[in-house]
Amino acid sequence: MYIDSHCHINFPDLADKLPEVFDLMRHNQVSHALCISVELERFPDILALAESHPNVYASVGVHPDHEDCSEPSVEQLVALADHPKVVAIGETGLDYFRLTGDLEWQRERFRTHIRAARACRKPLVIHTRSAAEDTLRLMREELAGEAGGVMHCFTESLAVAEAAMEMGFYISFSGIVTFKNAVALREVAAAVPLERMLIETDSPYLAPVPHRGRTNQPGYVMHVAEEIARIKGLSAEEVGEITSQNFFRLFTSAVH
Ligand SMILES: [Zn+2]
Ligand SMILES: [Zn+2]
Repeated sequence: MYIDSHCHINFPDLADKLPEVFDLMRHNQVSHALCISVELERFPDILALAESHPNVYASVGVHPDHEDCSEPSVEQLVALADHPKVVAIGETGLDYFRLTGDLEWQRERFRTHIRAARACRKPLVIHTRSAAEDTLRLMREELAGEAGGVMHCFTESLAVAEAAMEMGFYISFSGIVTFKNAVALREVAAAVPLERMLIETDSPYLAPVPHRGRTNQPGYVMHVAEEIARIKGLSAEEVGEITSQNFFRLFTSAVH
């Protein structure tokens, strides 16, 4: 059993072929998927998916790369998160790679999400790219550790992973860990304890080897588990089992 802790199955590439997406999940023993919000405008689609599929969970939040969309308030996020299938706040964070210039608005938006997560006691899904130092600084300033959460699609150094784990965060690895040139990331994965680890696809992006270049989907998360298993000298089933337990500990214990 495997769980995809981060996917975007509401995006057109996947939303158009959901029966196939769920078929492949079943076939590959991917029991659950967490569908991640990137804009409030698209949140109703995600909530509808979570409400109509027992094995789909939802998050609520606004992605740091999205400039032209409505800006969430703490109160709004807390209100939208008040639903049993909404198990996380995000994705949020900082991205100095995709966007440049004065990004104070991105930092403000990140602070808003952390405050909302603390207020509704639901974990954060954090995206960080070329901004690790500021991401950790804001997490500390806003006491993100009170909410906990996951550093998703992790591509930073072991030092960054350790700093996040010290705040109680989990580290989630995507298909990038299977890429031929991802030598440094595999070293990070070797050092992060399985007990602090999640796996994800970030689909429709970042399809793992052997599907690289195609549209990614939650069923492919087993290939991430296989690579982690290879790195750690375990079976893919063990990696699936432990990361699934981590998923439920992080995302569903806060709900009850
Ligand atoms: Zn992301
Ligand atoms: Zn994402």
